[in-house]
Amino acid sequence: MEKSLIHWLRERLPAHPLLKLGIGDDAAILNLRDAPECVITVDALMDGCDFLLENIDARRAGRKSLAVNLSDLAAMAAEPLAGVVALVLPKSGGFELAAELYEGMIPLAEKFGLAIAGGDTNSWDGPLVVSITLLGKVGPRGALRRDGAKPGDKILATGRFGGSILGRHLDFEPRVAESLLLNERYRLDAGIDVSDGLSLDLSRLAEESGCGAMLHLEKIPIADAARQLAEERSDGVTPMEHALTDGEDFELLLAVPPEEAERILADRPLDIPLTEIGEITSESGLWCVDEAGTKRPLTPRGWEHEFD
Ligand SMILES: [Mg+2]
Repeated sequence: MEKSLIHWLRERLPAHPLLKLGIGDDAAILNLRDAPECVITVDALMDGCDFLLENIDARRAGRKSLAVNLSDLAAMAAEPLAGVVALVLPKSGGFELAAELYEGMIPLAEKFGLAIAGGDTNSWDGPLVVSITLLGKVGPRGALRRDGAKPGDKILATGRFGGSILGRHLDFEPRVAESLLLNERYRLDAGIDVSDGLSLDLSRLAEESGCGAMLHLEKIPIADAARQLAEERSDGVTPMEHALTDGEDFELLLAVPPEEAERILADRPLDIPLTEIGEITSESGLWCVDEAGTKRPLTPRGWEHEFD
């Protein structure tokens, strides 16, 4: 089966100027002359955890597997270059599944100029696992890291938060173009993508920077899906709690010097919402000003993979 998949991929995968040698040999060869500094990132996604293949078209699972990696490149303000794809397929229906996964990935790769350089395909008696590794090119301003935030920086957020489980976690748009544009035109001190939850990922950025963070709850852009989820489940979890703690928004949180934040908000350079939701503090920990104007500590919560 692997041979026929390689044959199919050789026909199907688009050519790319970075690829000196693409799929089919023991390894691919890239031409990276113009990228003296690269970022590299990997993510593994599993059927039953990150998506449920019994409920969705496998192309959406393929697209998501690539999109989560692209979101990490966006978080670093790195331009997508090339990637490799490892598939661990269930034995039954493996070829068809692999082809559908790639059909989900290829349009997204083309949209962001990413070369799919190759990969590995195995099969077993377990569920599907997709692991993708991406390389990204760092621009002249350098990579956007988590550890550069300074007290007084404003916290800007793209998009809206909460309730992505209703569908957005599969079909979200990785904020690559937005991150590259903002990092090129403005001075950004730090950034992270919200994969595990707004409050949890913001606390990670603040902690890496040796700072704290204050959120203004009335400014948090709450997604319609967060409201819908709160209504559907009627378990007492509010839309705001969904916005603060749900995983997989894949939006960006940016720490930006105040005068620069003001400039960005006045310029409105993006076609998606960009909202100032708080600021970086010298006092450590995560804090919020609630709707009543009271300052209180906020427990960072979100999705965490558990293991011993
Ligand atoms: Mg990330």
